[in-house]
Amino acid sequence: STFRPSQPPASCRRRIVMFPMPFQGHITPMLHLANILHSQGFKITIIHTEYNAPNRSNYPHFTFRSISDRFSEIPAAELSASYCIKYLNNYCLDPFRKFLAELLADEEEEEKVSCMITDAAFYSTQAVADELGIPRLVLETNSLSCIVASDILLSLSTLPKDPEALVMEFPPLKLKDVGKGNTDPKGMGEVMVNTRNQMKASSGIIWNTFKELEEYALETVCQDYRIPSFTLGPFHKYFTASSGGLIEQDRNILSWLDTQAPKSVVYVSFGSVARITESDFQEMAHGLANTGLPFLWVVRPGVVRGSEWLESLPEKFLESVGDKGRIVKWCPQPKVLAHPATGCFWTHCGWNSTLESICEGVPMVCSPCFVDQPINSRCVCGVWKIGVILEDGFERDGIETAIKSVMVNEEGKEMRKRINSIKDKMNLSLEKGVVGPHLVSLLQDSNGSADV
Ligand code: UDP
Repeated sequence: STFRPSQPPASCRRRIVMFPMPFQGHITPMLHLANILHSQGFKITIIHTEYNAPNRSNYPHFTFRSISDRFSEIPAAELSASYCIKYLNNYCLDPFRKFLAELLADEEEEEKVSCMITDAAFYSTQAVADELGIPRLVLETNSLSCIVASDILLSLSTLPKDPEALVMEFPPLKLKDVGKGNTDPKGMGEVMVNTRNQMKASSGIIWNTFKELEEYALETVCQDYRIPSFTLGPFHKYFTASSGGLIEQDRNILSWLDTQAPKSVVYVSFGSVARITESDFQEMAHGLANTGLPFLWVVRPGVVRGSEWLESLPEKFLESVGDKGRIVKWCPQPKVLAHPATGCFWTHCGWNSTLESICEGVPMVCSPCFVDQPINSRCVCGVWKIGVILEDGFERDGIETAIKSVMVNEEGKEMRKRINSIKDKMNLSLEKGVVGPHLVSLLQDSNGSADV
């Protein structure tokens, strides 16, 4: 079901400038948040980069402004996450400042900008906020647990040597996850430190999560960051119709799902960024086929290194699978997860995917690739106990066993019970309404003259 924020819209609310990081997992939650705040009476201006520009026609109620990012000038060899984030922070800053200064100089009384909400990873925007005297709130698109765990990792001077050893300060995390999470320690470390410092300098953090799921991490963040934290998620449950999708979705797949038995289908997707090798891809194909279960597999073009799309599938794979398996380039994921035929989600554990799965009570098989994904998958399996991790990577027998443990075994039934109970708590928390007066007052007016 879809929830509506409970507070009635106030007609006189002011304008919020929002600035997402231009990656799918960041743009979607920012646009969902924009919709939530618009429903509360705020006017919305989205500033976006030319790279991965959102589809404006889906949001006629927002004002959009594109700024130059020079993204196309990044040499292909430098396309690591940390390099891109640092690059965008450098090159977007001047056009962002210029646009905001113009907007502030021009604005009519009723159009006044009251604050900006920028992606946590756009750390350089805090300086603009300070300079122009506009409060900055941060949207953190990662889980609370991920921020707490990575803060701990940043503070550790020595790490245990055994890859299977637990990181004592955050027990579900193993040493091997740290290496996997941080493939680029120097670059990503710098991004993380900058993000944290500028988050602490901001007026507040908005999280796409719910309190009942990450209570311990929320308490820790509130203590450590000493600025207000607002858990408004899961954002996508407010307005399921809106989509910040950058890739065209194959919607025909929903009618194929209609023909499948309840909870029978394995849904597989590794999000918008992760990439795998050709041999991992082939093991995935064999593992899936060997389960004998129906599957829906999103193979994003480019996900397999060195392949355009499906060239490296095992020979005659599609013929042998027949109508039992479907492969698509991209799908309406939240709808697929909400479909009664979907039985489990084999995921890379990006935060949006993890949250979307929890919201629909779909247990997970986890194949984390990098950054926050190893931490999220440890929470899924070690803390919430609603999935299993493919510890040994991509190997057909391990894949078959893991999928069956979630889909057919007793273990899977227990996971389903636990995830449904978390889902019920989330529904209750959404019904209570989460955009409270404290947040409205911060967003509405830095001088505290909000009509709350
Ligand atoms: N997604 C989608 N269709 C697909 C696969 C993914 O709409 O076929 C969406 C998914 O619903 C999620 C986002 O893409 O909102 C992926 O974000 P996530 O944080 O899980 O991973 P990332 O792409 O950032 O690695």
